[in-house]
Amino acid sequence: MMFSSTARSRRLLPRHPMPWITTLSPLYTTRRISHTPSPAAYMGPIASTISMDHYPVIFTSHLGEGEFWRELTPFRDVRHDDFFSWRWNINNLVEKQSALSEFLYAMIPSKVPRSVSIGGMQTVDEFCTDVYDGIKNSAMSIRIVPYVLSRIDWADPANCPVFRQFIPLKSIMIQDHPEVKPDSLGERWDMPVDGVVHRYPDKALILQYLSMENISEKSLALSICPTYCIFCTRSYGVGAHTYITKQTFKLGKKRLENMFAYIRSQPQLKDIVVSGGDAYYLPPHVLEWIGDTFINMDNIERFRFATKGLAVAPNRILDEADPWTAVLIRVSDKARKAGKHFALHTHFNHPNEISWITEKASLKLSQAGVTVRNQSVLLRGINDDIETMSSLIQKLAKMLIQPYYVYQCDMVPKVEHLRTPLQTILDLQTQPRGSIAGFYTPSFVVDLPEGGGKRLAGDYESYDRDTGVSTFRAPILKKNGKEGKLYRYYDPIKPSS
Ligand code: SF4
Repeated sequence: MMFSSTARSRRLLPRHPMPWITTLSPLYTTRRISHTPSPAAYMGPIASTISMDHYPVIFTSHLGEGEFWRELTPFRDVRHDDFFSWRWNINNLVEKQSALSEFLYAMIPSKVPRSVSIGGMQTVDEFCTDVYDGIKNSAMSIRIVPYVLSRIDWADPANCPVFRQFIPLKSIMIQDHPEVKPDSLGERWDMPVDGVVHRYPDKALILQYLSMENISEKSLALSICPTYCIFCTRSYGVGAHTYITKQTFKLGKKRLENMFAYIRSQPQLKDIVVSGGDAYYLPPHVLEWIGDTFINMDNIERFRFATKGLAVAPNRILDEADPWTAVLIRVSDKARKAGKHFALHTHFNHPNEISWITEKASLKLSQAGVTVRNQSVLLRGINDDIETMSSLIQKLAKMLIQPYYVYQCDMVPKVEHLRTPLQTILDLQTQPRGSIAGFYTPSFVVDLPEGGGKRLAGDYESYDRDTGVSTFRAPILKKNGKEGKLYRYYDPIKPSS
């Protein structure tokens, strides 16, 4: 099995392979001595993320340039050309429970470890039941591309940092905080026009709920990504219906033109983000049309496309038969010639997501002059330790991807087991600075509930570590009753026992 042979077991892995990390880093000392949380506060049933034995990080590209996907039984006969074909990937993604079930039974040994927070072993049947119950209770539907399936440690999926981001397990879910909301960021309150979130004075966000050829009729009205994250900020609108009926839109030409007309009518708007869903699902001609529109719009100085594609399906970037990347590069070139800033924003959370394919895809983009930035989400038990976060930052920098933001996980439903207390991000943010160039050091931020926007985690007005309530202000925001408003972020609570 690819990530979990004896030689790769966590005991045999070097625990601190990066020279700037010592065994007793200040992080560990600070947390244990200065900020021990009250037992009544945020400690859920999962053991403290600080002392938890984190999953091993793979420090080198797996198997050189080998066909690592062929180690998976279902992909044993998948040829190189197929694995790199976007069409093959779309045709082979897993989104139905029956397909996932086939995959699980093909890949999982008869007995696998439970989550380390529970301990012990379980049978494959018990594990699969846990997954099916997780799916029933999740706010997000499942959708997983073959590349992601090929990065999972199938011998220990319950503890694999890739698996845990995309496939829910009921056994580790905990009760939602009462302040959790599907539209936690209040995006729909800041939409002057359908699909445009205009919160900051000079910046707006376009949410694409798009239609596209080759997608089933049922999906036409839904927002789509190559792979769905359990912790999606927009679980109110992204993916197929779950127990949440998704807000559905179509991205027709008329709807986009309405968005453009609004943006054009606001001279203070200079910066546009085209986001979620995912720009990977913009048909190339629509991607170019949007790009050309912003390049030719006088008030716009900067624009970016957001896609998780580079992280979860980097093989597409290298698919010469697929025009998406060539169009993206063309948009980037045209923007640069027009004196406008263009960037691609992507979303890596753990170094094990990165392979030689990611490195080649990133190199292709950087050699073509495309600026790429990364936005991570801080996830409990996945990347909330300094070893993992430092390794991720170093790997991104090596691929010329700017580690831009690390977000506190939003207060959205069914992700309490993945949220961390504010204290975790406060402790983490002190660590990377000085270990790498400042321009590769991410900002650690909280996207404030109720539309307060992004604030540096350390910029809180108050933080009661016993109740887990922190408060922030956002002085730049004045519209929609936000002037002087105090925003609250709540640590995950301990469920009543
Ligand atoms: S890629 Fe982004 S928009 Fe899509 S499911 Fe993940 S977090 Fe949500």
